[in-house]
Amino acid sequence: QANERESMYLVSEYASNYFIKTLWESELGKAIGLSYFKERGFSDDTIKKFQLGYNPDQWDAFTATAIQDKYQLEYLSKTGLTIVKEQPGGPPRTFDRFKGRVMFPIHSMSGRVLGFGGRILTNDKKAAKYLNSPESDIYHKSKVLYGIYYAKKAIAKEDNCYLVEGYTDVIQMHQKGIENVVASSGTALTPEQIRLINRLTKNITVLFDGDAAGLRASLRGIDLILEQGMNVKVCTFPEGEDPDSFSKNNPYEDVVHYLEQNAKDFIQFKTSLLAQEAADDPIKRADTVRDIVHSIAKIPDRIQKEIYIQECAKIMQISEEVLYNTLAQIDKKTV
Ligand code: ATP
Ligand code: MN
Ligand code: MN
Ligand code: MN
Repeated sequence: QANERESMYLVSEYASNYFIKTLWESELGKAIGLSYFKERGFSDDTIKKFQLGYNPDQWDAFTATAIQDKYQLEYLSKTGLTIVKEQPGGPPRTFDRFKGRVMFPIHSMSGRVLGFGGRILTNDKKAAKYLNSPESDIYHKSKVLYGIYYAKKAIAKEDNCYLVEGYTDVIQMHQKGIENVVASSGTALTPEQIRLINRLTKNITVLFDGDAAGLRASLRGIDLILEQGMNVKVCTFPEGEDPDSFSKNNPYEDVVHYLEQNAKDFIQFKTSLLAQEAADDPIKRADTVRDIVHSIAKIPDRIQKEIYIQECAKIMQISEEVLYNTLAQIDKKTV
């Protein structure tokens, strides 16, 4: 089993190098992949640092080269780099999973390649914009944060971690000079992912794309951060912007200033947001109160809990006593 995992690491490392080489040295890699990254505003240094690459737009260009170089189909298949289709009465057919995509290798805390994200270059709405390596013995989506290898030093030094949605947000902020950034890459946040950050800092600032779509759904995931006794702030971006576009289009000082000005304490943020939505509807307001007290209940520290109860009472214009009673009910249920 250990040998098998080692073989999967080796083939992933090989693939990463192949994608890099293809990006920088092949004609199509340069014309299609490299120019795509440059159009997005990534510098040569950034592209190299994040080990970005390109998988040619042919059925099995990568797989065929890997086989020639004596890598076994078994591990190409187990890592998901190659899709194997059995054929009745013939040898199986093989396809590159990431055919025609620019490649973002996903590294462990110590820098080993665990898997990949691949982005299409067209605006084809039928194809998935991003494809990820499938879950495997070396790639556990729920335990990985994109960028952690590059961010860990800065997270400890700044004693704060920015959590963003996507690969390009991490890369663009990094290039702008803000290096304490990681991404959950499209999956819902998990306790394991938070634990990775918790080892480096107690402070997380969650940055939301300015498209509001994901916001409501993500609020619940943030309770998981509170549960681990961490301090959470959230920051949203203007409509249509994400951390990638915003840091691409603004100078370093403005980005830092924006983050400082707009990062709000999570409980306050959630309370104001839900209070606004509920407006004068009494039933909605009651639901909102319960929802927020649920979040407050996750906070392990008693004093912090009290402070938040007081804050919430003010914003919701409701007595602290009612909030404490609700809190007690929730605590009873979860014990
Ligand atoms: P880009 O700027 O390249 O268009 P993005 O990073 O801004 O992409 P979002 O649409 O904001 O992309 O999505 C955030 C993250 O969710 C992506 O970085 C990716 O990890 C994941 N994701 C987005 N679309 C898909 C998809 N169709 N399939 C799988 N994962 C996706
Ligand atoms: Mn988004
Ligand atoms: Mn985005
Ligand atoms: Mn984007």
